Amino acid sequence: MTNDPVRLATPARASWQQQLRDAVRDVAELAALLELPRDAIAADAAARDFPLLVPRAYIARMKKGDPRDPLLLQVLPTALEAVEVPGFTHDPLSESEFAEAGLVRKYRDRSLLITTGACPVHCRYCFRRSFPYADQLAARNDFADALERLARDGTKEAILSGGDPLSLGNARLASLLERLAELPALRRVRVHTRFPIVLPDRIDRGLVALLERARVDVVIVLHTNHPREIDEDVAGALRALRGAGVTLLNQSVLLRGINDDADTLAELSERLFECRTLPYYLHLLDPVAGAAHFDVGGPRAEAIYRELLARLPGYLVPRLVREIPGQASKTPIRLGL
Ligand SMILES: *Cc1c(COP(=O)(O)O)cnc(C)c1O
Ligand code: SF4
Repeated sequence: MTNDPVRLATPARASWQQQLRDAVRDVAELAALLELPRDAIAADAAARDFPLLVPRAYIARMKKGDPRDPLLLQVLPTALEAVEVPGFTHDPLSESEFAEAGLVRKYRDRSLLITTGACPVHCRYCFRRSFPYADQLAARNDFADALERLARDGTKEAILSGGDPLSLGNARLASLLERLAELPALRRVRVHTRFPIVLPDRIDRGLVALLERARVDVVIVLHTNHPREIDEDVAGALRALRGAGVTLLNQSVLLRGINDDADTLAELSERLFECRTLPYYLHLLDPVAGAAHFDVGGPRAEAIYRELLARLPGYLVPRLVREIPGQASKTPIRLGL
């Protein structure tokens, strides 16, 4: 096993669109880049069901020769995904009940927009792995129906989600932000994105400029699970976002074999803080079919969380939550005495 960085086939500063086109979609190529035996690492059935997709900028942070690398495990299709486990379903959050015309309206005053089905990476544990994006896109007729609905509801916070909303180009994002800013009741726009982590060059000058100009407060909630996901390029992207006046928060998913220990999570919080980002949520895994092998049982999750509480200042401890469909908010996990 070596720690040499993976050599990049893409010139370091190709445009983000080019880097996305050049992302690795082939398991054999990923195995070769990481010097891993092809057979040892992947399952073709899983890859057909939910294809491999990972940008080279993210692969560059993986360790060569290590089949247990915590970044690799987040993106690698495996045979374990085919194991059916009771309670793990295709729509664990009952989103189909709450979704209408691309809006998921579960909580008071907030409305989540399915802006696109596209992501810069495919995370194996994603609870929207089987989401019917084709039927549920707020982007239909250029967001007109969605905006009309937000106006009618008096929504205070629009949450741009997906997919990954930064898959939309800067011109479309700028136009959407402008029209959102015109809604009289709207106080904030929130963007849920993994782009700054997996493809930091997405935070280009045009994006920073449109965020600086925005006439509405913008909160960006990142999705980072491991401190090694944050290299210097990511740190630079986060600094640029802060420079544009954006509030930066992070959510993580507690994942077996990836970040299920207090050392890793404490270091993640420290690293996020260095990048001016506060930890927001630590989610228990949503029971989506194909992801049961990532599940950390409740008692272990609590033990890890207790240790985090004992080690970190309160503001660096994310809230441990799970989502229970039908509840008025994410449900905080109460620690037993
Ligand atoms: C998680 C979620 C939100 C946001 O909840 P917060 O607790 O405000 O972060 C909003 N809408 C949906 C559908 C969600 O799943
Ligand atoms: S980036 Fe987010 S929405 Fe896309 S696959 Fe990963 S977890 Fe799912």
